[in-house]
Amino acid sequence: MSLAASCVRCSAPVLEAPDDPLGRWACPEHGLTHALWHAEEASYAAFAEHLGASRAFPTYLPWPLGPGWSVTDFAAVGDGPEQARATLTCISGTSELDGPVDVLVVLEEAGTGLGARCASTRYDDPGTEIIHRPPAVRIRIDSLSVSLWDVSTSSADGEFDRSVVAGEAGGRWLWIVLRPASALLLLGDDWILRDVSRLGPQLVELPFGGPRPTW
Ligand SMILES: [Zn+2]
Repeated sequence: MSLAASCVRCSAPVLEAPDDPLGRWACPEHGLTHALWHAEEASYAAFAEHLGASRAFPTYLPWPLGPGWSVTDFAAVGDGPEQARATLTCISGTSELDGPVDVLVVLEEAGTGLGARCASTRYDDPGTEIIHRPPAVRIRIDSLSVSLWDVSTSSADGEFDRSVVAGEAGGRWLWIVLRPASALLLLGDDWILRDVSRLGPQLVELPFGGPRPTW
C-alpha cells in the first residue's frame, strides 16, 4: 500500500486511535480525525489504489484534460473503502493568460475540513457565505449544471494567490481552488467534472505526474 495516512487539517502523520468507537485516527495537534490517504507521488498505480480506497465515493476530475495537462495530486479521506467522506484531485497545466495553473477539486461531506484547508478559509462549510447571492459561475457534472459561489479567502493571511468557488453537489460540498486567482476564468458552462471512480480502462490514458501543488 503506497497510500500513507495523515491528518485532514495538517500534514502530520496519524495513528489509529484504538479506543475510538468511530474508528478515527489521532493527530498530535488536532486530536481525533479521519485519516487522509495520500500517495507519495501521482502515478497510475497510486491512483488505482486511491480509487480502491474510496470506492463508495465519487472522485471528480475536470474532463477532458487539455493538451499538456496532467493529474498532479489526489487524496481521499475516510476510515475504510466504504467510509470515504472526501476526495481531492488536482490537475496542473498552463493556460495562455495565466501561465502555470493548478486546479484543485475537493468533494466532501459537510464538516470534513479538507476543502477549507485547500482554500485557506477559517470555517469548514462555505454555506453561510454563499446564501442570498447569485452564483459566480456554473459548471457541469456530467450533464448536470452546478452553481458555484465565490468564497472569500481574504481573512487568511496572504492568501490572495488563489480563487475559491464552492457549492453543493449531490448533498456534499464541492470546492474548486484555482491558482493563480485569475484562472477562475477557465470555469464556465462548458467546464465539466466527471466522476472517474468507475472509469476503468480509460484511466490508463490519463497523464500523471509533474510538480505537485501545496495545500
Ligand atoms: Zn492535524
